[in-house]
Amino acid sequence: MKKTMLIMLLASIIMYSCGSQPVKKEKKEMEKETKVKVDTFTYLVEQFADLKIMRYKVDGFKQLPLQEKKLIYYLSQAALSGRDIIWDQNYKYNLLIRRSLEAIYKNFEGDRNTDEFKAFEKYLKQVWFANGIHHHYSMDKFQPDFTPEYFSKLIAASPEAHFPELKGYNKASLIQKLTSLIFDPEIAPKRLSLDNSKDMIKASACNFYENVSQKEAEAFYDKVKQKVDKEHPIAYGLNSKLVKEKGHIVEKIYKVDGMYSAAIEKIIFWLKKAENVAVNDLQRKHIRKLIEFYETGDLKTFDDYSILWAEDTISNVDFVNGFIETYGDPLGLKGSWESLVNFKNMEATHRAEIISENAQWFEDHSPVDKRFKKAKVKGVSAKVITAAQLGGDTYPSTPIGVNLPNSDWIRKEHGSKSVSLENIVEAYDKASESSGFKEEFYYSQTEIERAKKYGSLADKLHTDLHEILGHGSGQLLAGTSPDALKNYSSTLEEARADLFALYYLADKKMQDLGLVDSDDLAKAEYYSYILNGLMTQLKRIEPGKDIEEAHMRNRQLIAKWVFEKGAKDKVIEWVKKDGKTFIKVNDYGKLRELFGKLLAEVQRIKSEGDFAAGKELVEKYGVKVNPQLHKEVLERFNKLHIAPYGGFINPVYKAVEKDGKIIDVKIEYPMDFAKQNLYYSEHYSFLPTIN
Ligand code: ZN
Repeated sequence: MKKTMLIMLLASIIMYSCGSQPVKKEKKEMEKETKVKVDTFTYLVEQFADLKIMRYKVDGFKQLPLQEKKLIYYLSQAALSGRDIIWDQNYKYNLLIRRSLEAIYKNFEGDRNTDEFKAFEKYLKQVWFANGIHHHYSMDKFQPDFTPEYFSKLIAASPEAHFPELKGYNKASLIQKLTSLIFDPEIAPKRLSLDNSKDMIKASACNFYENVSQKEAEAFYDKVKQKVDKEHPIAYGLNSKLVKEKGHIVEKIYKVDGMYSAAIEKIIFWLKKAENVAVNDLQRKHIRKLIEFYETGDLKTFDDYSILWAEDTISNVDFVNGFIETYGDPLGLKGSWESLVNFKNMEATHRAEIISENAQWFEDHSPVDKRFKKAKVKGVSAKVITAAQLGGDTYPSTPIGVNLPNSDWIRKEHGSKSVSLENIVEAYDKASESSGFKEEFYYSQTEIERAKKYGSLADKLHTDLHEILGHGSGQLLAGTSPDALKNYSSTLEEARADLFALYYLADKKMQDLGLVDSDDLAKAEYYSYILNGLMTQLKRIEPGKDIEEAHMRNRQLIAKWVFEKGAKDKVIEWVKKDGKTFIKVNDYGKLRELFGKLLAEVQRIKSEGDFAAGKELVEKYGVKVNPQLHKEVLERFNKLHIAPYGGFINPVYKAVEKDGKIIDVKIEYPMDFAKQNLYYSEHYSFLPTIN
């Protein structure tokens, strides 16, 4: 996969790379003590529309040396300084709309307890969430639940409000303009349209092109690309808007004295401070290069920066700040502005290292046939990081894994960084605890308690085992084609990695390595895995449809197979309580044996390239859905009102100064999404209303 934001879904799709480093043995004891702790932090803050707002915890920040705290502080300021850019990139009128809505929200003197005002407030929160008036996922323009008439009333009853100035507009014409932008379904219906039958640029509301057709834009960049160094192509078009002015097509470059200059100057201001507290030369160099890129807008400089950044695998604190992912552009050229500040999660990285170092032991002891095992196996592990600040396109909705840089040749020649954002994954996990999901679907209090105590760590270890060892284990017999399993290969490959993880989660070795301290941990994971595979994952399937996605097929395949093979011993059974269906696991020991058996079989299928057997497994266990059960699952989920999309409130970093010097940086965790956005608009709004 070339690019990366591995979007939310599940931790199981995080990709890992990079080598591992030696373990410091003395850390093991320390880790053991911190494993099970009661967490009183509030993760889920609020829900509205189809969105939920959460908080993430930045564990370990307080323990960082002052220099790194300062670095994070400065980089966080840089991360917030570009906020307006993504709003403007998403749609030309987003800043106008946001500033107008906020002016109303702050100054409205009428009744704030009416349904209409609540609808207005919900709309504003949706707009904040999406960095604009289009849904961040579906790309559709939001439809407000209040009327244009009410909107006029809001404006009239906000006497002190300072509405944005717009050249050639008075207040009345501004109201008219806003009303049509917000309410007219014909205006900018989609932020991004990938419908190839139309002019995608015309059909997309995003602000990367103006007065140019798709044909003209493509011709423009085709011509530019002819002059390219084919071996080391720069990312043409990444940092500009393409505009036709007086018959000429020109690029407006995002840089100092170019487009978005006011925000970029602030970003540079903070990056310079960060440069001054960089902890090593390499870090200082890539921060310097990034500043140079923002100053010049030169994409060759951006490549030089990306190389330095990719090669810096030593710094504890790291960050992304720039025009990075191109998903927001129908032509896939223009980079949306984003930032992510983070530092290494020592505990998790250490955990991954232990597993990786013992890769050979796991391979040697797996329940698969000797002929299918690797004589020499190496675990692959990636850095696990703690997100400290989200900005631009990654706020408030953020990926759980990042793999950069995007340039293929830089990845090949200089490497790339693949990281997983563990505290974000954990926040998702913890937030779901208060959703009532477990109370609704878990069989009894025993399973709930176990999940609360061990579920989070069990999930992480499952992902570690799956990614670090599972995919890399086993070998093909000589002469077996790697493509032999064809369309069933990814489902079977995911099954193999999952089974490897499930099998070993309950192994004594995990306790010997100090990674697990109770048999209950594997039980927690086994229960949630079976429940998900047999029942709860069906919530993502539309009524009447089969399962198609590989990870989902794999999970049902495993769960159904072990259910069937253990049926005569009642290893797992269906139980009805109050007319509802529950899963009960009776024998965790036998369940583990069954996981081992299926692992051996799936490995055989892969090693021998047994297409017929692979097909049979997937088709028989992984695809078909029981319509009755499916209906029940959907109904029970509906009653829980769990929002499908999530985003986060950022923590706040406060510099503690003495005699003009920063002597500490404190972290706070605010609870109010609206307040945070108003604060950002007040302090980090640097761009003109129309750019
Ligand atoms: Zn996988």
